[in-house]
Amino acid sequence: APRVRFAPSPTGYLHIGGARTALMNYLQARRYGGTFILRMEDTDQVRSTPESVQAILDGLNWLGLEWDEGPGKEGPHAPYFQTQRLDTYREHADRLLAEGKAFRCYCTREELDAQRQVAEKAGGAFKYPGTCRELKAPPPGKRAEDAVIRFKMPSGDGSVSFDDKALGKITKPYSDLDDWVMLRADGIPLYNYGCVIDDHLMEITLVARGQEHVNSTFPQLMLYQALGWQPPEFAHLPLILGPDREKLSKRKHPEADVMLHKRNGIMPEALLNFVIRLGWSHGNDEVISREQMLQWFDFSDVGTTSGVWDPKKLLWLNQQWLKLLPEATVAERLLPFLEAKGIQARGDARLEPLVRALRERSNTLEEMATTAANVYFRSGITLDEKAAAKHLTGDSLGLLRQAREALAALPEWKVEPLDGVVKTVSEAASVGMGKVAQPIRVAVTGNTTSPGIGETLLLVGRDEALRRIDAALA
Ligand code: GLU
Repeated sequence: APRVRFAPSPTGYLHIGGARTALMNYLQARRYGGTFILRMEDTDQVRSTPESVQAILDGLNWLGLEWDEGPGKEGPHAPYFQTQRLDTYREHADRLLAEGKAFRCYCTREELDAQRQVAEKAGGAFKYPGTCRELKAPPPGKRAEDAVIRFKMPSGDGSVSFDDKALGKITKPYSDLDDWVMLRADGIPLYNYGCVIDDHLMEITLVARGQEHVNSTFPQLMLYQALGWQPPEFAHLPLILGPDREKLSKRKHPEADVMLHKRNGIMPEALLNFVIRLGWSHGNDEVISREQMLQWFDFSDVGTTSGVWDPKKLLWLNQQWLKLLPEATVAERLLPFLEAKGIQARGDARLEPLVRALRERSNTLEEMATTAANVYFRSGITLDEKAAAKHLTGDSLGLLRQAREALAALPEWKVEPLDGVVKTVSEAASVGMGKVAQPIRVAVTGNTTSPGIGETLLLVGRDEALRRIDAALA
C-alpha cells in the first residue's frame, strides 16, 4: 500500500498548487488503501509561523483532505514538524561524515558570495569548488561546530537518472551537481537533506510534488545512494499558470489562495473539482465527484501540460455543485454568508425553498446570500431605476393594480394560485403574461430577474409582497 505525503513549508496560506499536491496524494492513498502523511517543513526560521501552520491545516480541513499521520494525528513516525527532528538529521549527518560521504565546510558566506559573483560574471552557474572537501581538521582559527555539512558528490563521469511517473525518464550528469549543503551549523537541515531523511524514515513509497522540485530530485537521489537507502518513486506535477499564463504565484495571483475561494462562496467540491483538472483529465469529464476521482485518478495519467487557471470554469463548476448537492447541505453552507449580512436564517422555513430557487441562477454562495439579503430577508426593496422606468409606468401600473387585488383575495399563498393570478389578469386584459409578471417582479424584487413569479411571491411572503406592491403603486 502506498505511503504518500504532502510536505508544505508553512510560510503562508495554503495555495492552489499545494492543494493540488495534497489532493492527488490523498487520492492515491485512499484509492489504494495507503497512508497520507502531512509533514511540516518548517525550517525557514524567519518565514515559518504557527499562523501559517494553522492556515494550511484549515485549508486542508475545509477541502476535506484528511491526513492519517501528521500534526494533530501523530503516528508511528512522529514528530511531523522538521524543527522537532533535528537530532535525527544530526545523527545521519554524523554517519555520513564518518563514512567520508559528507564533509564539514568552513567557507564563509563572503568567500562563497565572491566566488559566485566571479562565476556569474563569467556567464556560468556557481558550483562549490570543493575547497573543504579533503580537510581532515578545522583550519586554524575555525571550529568544527561552526561548520556547515556538505554532501560529497562522487567525482567522475557518472550520471543520475530516474523514471518520473509524469515526466518519464530524466538524467543528469554528475558534473551538473555540486557538494550541496545538507545541514547548517545550527543543525537546521536544508530542504534536500531534511526531505530525504524524512521521506525515508516515514517510509514514503511515492513522492508527488510540483515540477519546480524536479531538479532537487537529483541531489536527493545521490543522498539515497550514499545512505544505502532505496529511493521512493517520483511524480512531478505540471505547472499551474494564472489567467495571464504566468506561473501561478502568491505574489501576482490572489486566486492562488485556497481560502479566498471559500470566502468568495466557492464550495470545496467545486474547488477540488477545479484543482484536479489542473494537469490531469479524464476524457471530457468536467464535473467530477470525489468518488469518481478516487476511481479514476492515477499519477501515470498526469502529463506535462501546464494547467491554466480559467476563472469562468471555476464559477461554472461551483454552479454545477450548487445544483448537485442536497438542498439542506447548500442551505447549511449558505448560513454563514447570510450571517455576515446580519441575517440569522437558521430554522427559517424559507431557507431551503430559497436555495432551491436561487441556486439555479447563482454562481456562488455569496451571490445567493446577496440576493437573499437584498430581496427576501428585508422589508422593502431597492428598485432598480431602469427596471422601474420600464415596467412600473402607464398601463403596467394598471395591470399591477389588478394583480394586487387578485393576489390579496387569494385564500392561499401558494405557488400555483400565485402563478394563476398572472394568468387570469393577463387573459382578462388580453396581454401576454410577461406584461403582468414583470411589473410584479420589479415591484417585489426590485429588478427584472428572479425565480418564477409564484415562487418569488411565496418566498417574499404575503404581507411583505403586498406592501412592496403598494409601495410601487403609491
Ligand atoms: N517543502 C517543500 C515545498 O513546500 C516540499 C517539496 C516536496 O514535496 O518535496 O515546496
